[in-house]
Amino acid sequence: MVSFGLDPVPKPRKTKRNKPTAKQRGAISKEVYAAALERSGGCCERCGSTEGLQCAHLIRRWKIEGRTTVNDVAMLCGPSVNSGTCHHYADYTAGGKQWAENYRKTLYENNQE
Ligand SMILES: [Zn+2]
Repeated sequence: MVSFGLDPVPKPRKTKRNKPTAKQRGAISKEVYAAALERSGGCCERCGSTEGLQCAHLIRRWKIEGRTTVNDVAMLCGPSVNSGTCHHYADYTAGGKQWAENYRKTLYENNQE
């Protein structure tokens, strides 16, 4: 016998998923920053310098799916506007972009979520 009881029909879950903007995707949360800093041990993750550390993106912001994770960033010496710093290298040179891409890959391999 088929029962048309009073079982409550599960309400359809509202998945309000607004697509994050590039700015939101690229935003480095406090948690991500703290995790990156901890991983780096307070030193530039490329050269080991402790000067002017900045949390640098390893990937173009618009390429990030979802939100920036700790695997998308690295603590690099900066500022990025100064040539010769690792942040400048990663952001503005072809070799640096390649390095960042490889480093990001390594991070994802070592640190799967
Ligand atoms: Zn450096």
